[in-house]
Amino acid sequence: MNRIPSPETPGHTPGIQQYLRIKAEHPDSLLFYRMGDFYELFFDDARRAAQLLDIALATRGTSAGAPIPMAGVPYHAAESYLARLIGLGESVAICEQIGDPATSKGPVERRVMRVLTPGTVTDEALLTERRDNLLVALHLTGKRFGLAALDFSGGRITVLEGKDEEDLAGELERLRPAEILVAEGTQHPVLAGRRGVRSRAPWHFDRDTAQRLLTRQFGTRDLSGFGCDDLPLGLCAAGCLVQYAEETQRGALPHLRALSAERREEALLLDAATRRNLELETRLVGGTEHTLAAVLDRTATAMGSRLLRRWLGRPLRDRVLLRGRHQAVATLVAAQGYRDLHERLRNVGDMERILARIGLRTARPRDLMGLRTGLALLPDLRQQIAPLDAPLLQTLCAEIADFAELHAHLDRAIAENPPTVLREGGVIRTGYDAELDELRTLHEDAGQYLVALEARERARSGLPNLKVGYNKIHGIYLEVGRAYADRVPADFVRRQTLTGAERYITPELKAFEYRALSARERSLARERRLYEELLEGLQPELPALQRTAAALASLDTLASFADCAVTLRWSEPILSSIPGIHIEAGRHPVVEQAQDAPFVPNGVHLDATRRMLIITGPNMGGKSTYMRQTALIVLLAYIGSFVPAEATILGPIDRIFTRIGAADDLAAGRSTFMVEMTETANILHNATRESLVLMDEVGRGTSTFDGLALAWASAEHLARVIQSYTLFATHYFELTTLANERDGIANVHLDAAEHGDHIVFLHAVKDGPADRSYGLQVAALAGVPRKVIDQARSHLLRLENNQSIPARRRALQSPQLALFPPEESPVVLALRTLPLDDLTPRQALDVLYRLRSLTKPPHG
Ligand code: ADP
Repeated sequence: MNRIPSPETPGHTPGIQQYLRIKAEHPDSLLFYRMGDFYELFFDDARRAAQLLDIALATRGTSAGAPIPMAGVPYHAAESYLARLIGLGESVAICEQIGDPATSKGPVERRVMRVLTPGTVTDEALLTERRDNLLVALHLTGKRFGLAALDFSGGRITVLEGKDEEDLAGELERLRPAEILVAEGTQHPVLAGRRGVRSRAPWHFDRDTAQRLLTRQFGTRDLSGFGCDDLPLGLCAAGCLVQYAEETQRGALPHLRALSAERREEALLLDAATRRNLELETRLVGGTEHTLAAVLDRTATAMGSRLLRRWLGRPLRDRVLLRGRHQAVATLVAAQGYRDLHERLRNVGDMERILARIGLRTARPRDLMGLRTGLALLPDLRQQIAPLDAPLLQTLCAEIADFAELHAHLDRAIAENPPTVLREGGVIRTGYDAELDELRTLHEDAGQYLVALEARERARSGLPNLKVGYNKIHGIYLEVGRAYADRVPADFVRRQTLTGAERYITPELKAFEYRALSARERSLARERRLYEELLEGLQPELPALQRTAAALASLDTLASFADCAVTLRWSEPILSSIPGIHIEAGRHPVVEQAQDAPFVPNGVHLDATRRMLIITGPNMGGKSTYMRQTALIVLLAYIGSFVPAEATILGPIDRIFTRIGAADDLAAGRSTFMVEMTETANILHNATRESLVLMDEVGRGTSTFDGLALAWASAEHLARVIQSYTLFATHYFELTTLANERDGIANVHLDAAEHGDHIVFLHAVKDGPADRSYGLQVAALAGVPRKVIDQARSHLLRLENNQSIPARRRALQSPQLALFPPEESPVVLALRTLPLDDLTPRQALDVLYRLRSLTKPPHG
């Protein structure tokens, strides 16, 4: 009942019929249907909007005997409602009245003028300033996928491919698209519960269609010039993307001029969990404060900020390119050049998004004013960069074109301080167009003109009481007292006779009247036309303008790195081809800034002979800070930034993995342990010799023996088989003995000192295992009552006397491990995903106990 009926259903009023016809063309969007001063929604759209916007649900008329649900928002307040709906992943079709209600027979003519979708909006008010707003199309075939991402307001399309669900989750976590297009009927775990997922007919992903659409869009014969030939799935996705963008924009997309490939292997890869765990842009607990981006982002423009976040999301492995960035930062630091650069850039504004709106011809007057201001600063900016001796800075400088002529043109055309909208006029500057000036003068000077005319006509006729008047019916007239009527000049034509006076019109007055009364409408129309011509005239300049904007964004980001380097005392890292991670006196970039207490620097040294550190020490000692800072320093170096350390030398690194904290994925119905094991399995499957792996408290999510067994097995596999650079923080002291058994493993611990019952964390990393856990002191610190602590202490003493470490290790192999967990328990599911081939007999035994217990026939 009240699902939206088909337009052919009989029994509807002409009004509803019209609605249904238009709605049928936009089944996936909420239809905002203009009726007078309101946008109304009907049927299911009304219900949905009422719920999402918390507005009243009313009814209007009936359909098949049932009242039609209706909800509405006033048109002048529509923007804020639209912003909310877009933010919730909805798309909205906006249908306006285009006919004149006064002259229409039946319902006034209506047409959908705009379709807003979360991934294609370009209105400043609907976008987040410092974050890319992305539309993603996904082409899934088996496990592999092709992905195309469109940054519509930046004019960028990128394509990439990946091999499995893990890759996809990582990419989606990086891109955080506002809207995702998939082929109809697509089911994928990564998409479950996501907002803004829209299905498209499968043929939208067709290879040939994609080829045709993309070559047409870019005006090329084929796509070979974009270097994406090896990404056929990505191109299929790009085809779908462009088609959707065209559909929603209902017009050309001249600002989309190229595709670029993002091969996964070119980047330092971070899986989805690692991205979250490292708190690059948002914290695990929510919020953006105290994240790496918050510390790092000192950009002056929003486009620079977005670029910085793009770099942060996709660190690169190309050492030559990264050295270029490091060198540019070093040069800016040495010349103290970043401050002036930022000072100027601050006035440039968001040129990138302005250019997109110019391309789409939706730019507002203030956009053109912004562009004008930006262009005016270019000569100074170039002059400032010219003496800076770094190849990257020079390349960027050369990308900044000279737009003196364009600037002069905009300066002539656009008013000093134009209004926000074109509607009311006043946008085009006086002196730009003679016709417009005349129309405006006519309108503005009508009063003065009439005063002058009155004086002139008095003098000519010699009639001192002649005056100019106006009324709605007769327009402007000259009025003369009845007694003087016979003395008026011959060209006075009588218009109206009153008791005491006569009213006349003259040819001059008639002509003036026509011009003056229509002048306002005509001046507004003229202004609109000039504005459109101006936008049109900017189109050929777009490519060069876009290149300039991109160069400015890069300079902004590099200057932001330089700012951090100077003010936070960061140093230039060295990227070497020799394997290893060497960090001298490293600091955690965020913790150091967030706390008042001085930060204790710590070094890390990993190389071919020392590949894993087992990190022990009390809770709160600084283990996890130490591990994270290592990952963040690597990441910063790999985006081209300086790093918080005294000296850093990094060999090639391909991925960073983390298994940190208890990021409970309860929403997806997975237990802590299941999450822990899935992440661990992912690491064990995908890590290589060049990966940096952080393992924090693996095994904590389950009972002691299981946990210890899994921690042990994972550590050993990482050290012996995979040989990645691993930092392994653990509570299981048993693991510290691994260092004696295997090459390449060393123990370090976080230092703490005891003061009676109290503990002081020194936060310094020392060689060797911790001698004790200080668990009780930490508990006391956390406010656990004294009595409980005392009891725990005596219990601990008993345990320590009864159960030596070797005894506990024997327990690892005990039949206790074979205690059957209930079928389909997360433990078993997780164990199944672990790679068994390379385990030592003991580990394999541990694991097999588990699996056998499950596969055993019920009575066997
Ligand atoms: P753990 O992982 O060992 O439980 P954390 O790494 O979470 O400990 O550190 C606990 C707190 O100690 C941090 O929130 C931070 O305030 C402080 N801290 C950690 N490392 C340092 C350091 N190197 N210098 C100063 N304070 C530190």
